[in-house]
Amino acid sequence: MCFVSEQLTPATAMHYPWQDTQWTSLLAQVEQQRIPHALILGGPKHTGKYQFALTLAQRMLCESPVGGYACGSCKQCHLVTANNHPDLLKVLPEDEGKAIRIDSVRALGEFASKTSQQGGWKVVIIYPAESMNQNSSNALLKNLEEPGPNTLLLLVCHEPARLSATVKSRCRIVKFPVPTITQSRPWLSQVVGQDQDIKQLLDFAEGRPLLALQLIETDLLERRHAFEGMLDDLAAHRTTPLLVAEKLVVKKPVANDPVVTVDWLYSRVSSDIRSGQGAISSRLMFRYLDRLIQAKKLLQSSANPNVQLLWEELLLNWQLLFVTR
Ligand SMILES: [Zn+2]
Repeated sequence: MCFVSEQLTPATAMHYPWQDTQWTSLLAQVEQQRIPHALILGGPKHTGKYQFALTLAQRMLCESPVGGYACGSCKQCHLVTANNHPDLLKVLPEDEGKAIRIDSVRALGEFASKTSQQGGWKVVIIYPAESMNQNSSNALLKNLEEPGPNTLLLLVCHEPARLSATVKSRCRIVKFPVPTITQSRPWLSQVVGQDQDIKQLLDFAEGRPLLALQLIETDLLERRHAFEGMLDDLAAHRTTPLLVAEKLVVKKPVANDPVVTVDWLYSRVSSDIRSGQGAISSRLMFRYLDRLIQAKKLLQSSANPNVQLLWEELLLNWQLLFVTR
């Protein structure tokens, strides 16, 4: 378990409890002064990797760490929490979902080549690192090849497979898998309250605790329940694929983006396969999963498909999974 000293203040960034193993290992490397100059913190979205990067960055910059963590009260810590530390650079896209521009990576080059303003480490957080396009990646390579002294680059990455092979070969990869329910349950039930169905929340969020939290904080959970209800009604022949498809497209009671709804359907079928529920034949269910992958690709393409027709077909085939042969 992570050690949290009473002397720590709320101004100390703190990683999540399911990241103890990664923290312990990296902290040992920091304390033995053998931390690599570039790390890829890689793993699925919504598992808290950015928070981990911040915790490590503050630890590197703090003047007098306590129990392995930043103290939260020195000048450096105050600069970090005020988002104003001259030796901490965050390289982010201008808008979420957009590419990280080459100008930002060039600014990183200047930052890395200067000496530290506060006399300690310099830390760069690139988030999310897969948002760098080819040009930005190439610009980054120079910094990875000739790192300045006491400079740490943290590439926070949801999809390491999308990083260029050369970038990956110059970094140490630290993996952040989806935590087990045993790891995330105590934290989640503390944050959202004991009365929530934690297992179902984590199921809906595919085990990712921060997504589970987001489901509660928005009305996504309600929408997800409504969609599950529609699927149950179809399976029990209480409604028809045509009616549900029309409802999904016209009233949009579930999600505005049909890709999200296809993801939910995919996750429902996968969960039914795992629990052995639902269809007569898991072979048919696997075939149906393939169909959902195709549908998602079609929706993401520029083909501009007729969404209502697509839903009619997907839902009809969902219903057919429950026909007794
Ligand atoms: Zn401090």
